[in-house]
Amino acid sequence: MAKDYYKILGVDKKASQDEIKSQYRKLARQYHPDLHPNDEAAANKFKEINEANEVLSDPQKRAQYDYELENPYASGQGGFGGGSGFGDFSSIFDMFTGGFGGSGSRKADTKGADRTIEISISFLDAAKGCTKEVNYSRKEPCAECKGTGAKDGTSFKVCEKCHGTGQIQYTTNAFIFQTVSTKTCPDCRGTGKKIIHKCSKCGGVGYSRSQTKLKFDIPAGADNKSYIKKRGMGDASPLGGEPGDLYVVINVEPHKFFKRKNYDLYLELPISYKTAVMGGKIAVPSIDETFMLDIPEGTQNGKVFAIRGKGIKSRMQVGTMYVTVFIEVPTKLSRAQKEMLTQYDTDLEIKQSSKMNAFKNDVQSLYGVNPYDKK
Ligand SMILES: [Zn+2]
Ligand SMILES: [Zn+2]
Repeated sequence: MAKDYYKILGVDKKASQDEIKSQYRKLARQYHPDLHPNDEAAANKFKEINEANEVLSDPQKRAQYDYELENPYASGQGGFGGGSGFGDFSSIFDMFTGGFGGSGSRKADTKGADRTIEISISFLDAAKGCTKEVNYSRKEPCAECKGTGAKDGTSFKVCEKCHGTGQIQYTTNAFIFQTVSTKTCPDCRGTGKKIIHKCSKCGGVGYSRSQTKLKFDIPAGADNKSYIKKRGMGDASPLGGEPGDLYVVINVEPHKFFKRKNYDLYLELPISYKTAVMGGKIAVPSIDETFMLDIPEGTQNGKVFAIRGKGIKSRMQVGTMYVTVFIEVPTKLSRAQKEMLTQYDTDLEIKQSSKMNAFKNDVQSLYGVNPYDKK
C-alpha cells in the first residue's frame, strides 16, 4: 500500500464521493494519452489516476484502502488493540434526549437534587435500540400542594425579612470603601414566600419519598457509559422549586465476539488453513443478520477486511465492520495426517513461499544455516 491515492488525485482524505469524481474527471482530461502522444510520463500519470479512481470511487474499496493506509502492518498480525477508551459519561449525549440546560424562572438554589442511576443492557439491545423501564426511589413533589408545602399550594405570605425578593443585601465597610453584596434570605431560603398553613399531606416539606417507574427509549447505537437525561425526574425541591433531573447511565455488556469502538465493529473470524490457501465464502454475523464474506485465495493470517455499513447504525451514523481473519492451527493430528503434512511441506511450502525463501536466503548468507533444514 505504498501509493497515496488521495495525493495522486489531489483530494483530501475526507473528500466526498462527488469531489473525488470531479477531480478525477479534471485530471483524466488533463493527462489523456490522446493529448500527449509518445509521452511516457503522461501515460504513467494517466494510469495512476485511473488506479486511484478505481479504488476511491468505490466506497467499499475506499474503506478497505483507508484501513490499510492507517494500519500498514494490519495484514500481518491478528488481535485487537487494547480497546478500553469507549465513549465516556459526558461525550455523546445531548443529541439523544431533549435535555437542555435549565432556563426556568426559579432560582438555581431552589432546584431539587439531580439523580443518577445506572442500568445494564445487552450489546445487541444497545446496537439496535430498545425500550427499558427503571424503578427507583426518589423524593416526589407532593401532589396535594404541588410541591410547595403550603395548604392547597396557595397558603403563603410574603417573607418580611426580604420583602419577597429572596435575597438580602449586606453592606461591608473597609477603610473608605463600601462593598454591597447579596445573600440568599435565611428566613425563606430564597423563595421570597413563607407558608401560613402547612400542607397536611406532606407536613410542609413539599415532597414524599416514593417508588417511581419510568419507561424510556434507548436509541439505536447507544454506547457504553452514555446517558439519557430526563428532566424533572430527579428529587423534588425542598423549597418548592423545580425538581432535579434524572441521568440514566447506560452500561453496555460485552458481546461474545463483537468488539466496538464508536460506531465501528471488530470481529475475529477463525478460518481453516485450507480456506486461507484456497479461498472460500463464510457467513459472517453482523448486528441484524449474517452476510457472505469472500475469502480470497492466499489470504494471510491477520488480514483485515473492512466492510462498510456493517457496523453500528444510529440515526446519524453508520459504522464499518473490521473482520480480522485468524487461521486456526490444528493441534491434534493422527500419524497419517502428520505424514501427509510432512509430504506437503517438503513438496510445496518452501518452493512457493516467497517470504520463507527470502528469510532462508538472508539467514543462510549471514549465518551459513538454512533455518528450515530438517536435519
Ligand atoms: Zn425571605
Ligand atoms: Zn404537600
